[in-house]
Amino acid sequence: MQSLVDDIKQDVKSNCATYAGGGRCLLDRPCPFLSKDVKDGARCSYYENAVLPADDTLTLRYWSRFSKEATDKGSVKVCQSCNKVFTPKSNAEKYCGGCRDEVKRRQKSEQNKRYYRQNKPR
Ligand SMILES: [Zn+2]
Repeated sequence: MQSLVDDIKQDVKSNCATYAGGGRCLLDRPCPFLSKDVKDGARCSYYENAVLPADDTLTLRYWSRFSKEATDKGSVKVCQSCNKVFTPKSNAEKYCGGCRDEVKRRQKSEQNKRYYRQNKPR
């Protein structure tokens, strides 16, 4: 099995529009993932926004490298419904923007059901 860094390298090579070949990047710096001393915590905002989201599995693995550190800082969270990584606006958020409404609706209808059950006439 390939390591995460190897998978990222492969993804960059085949899918990143700013990858210039030979470890270089069109954004006028070495590619953070393909430089010789690539670190586990290497990041590239272009890659994160434009390339990575196309691959769900890789997205999860990519962010899980940071999850402890990033979750501590509150900068990213993993959605408790769909497992996607999202950027919460507040510490209390547990779900991504796509799931939040859905989850709220579900919780509300659960509450309603409970309410009706408890208030059923005997
Ligand atoms: Zn979600």
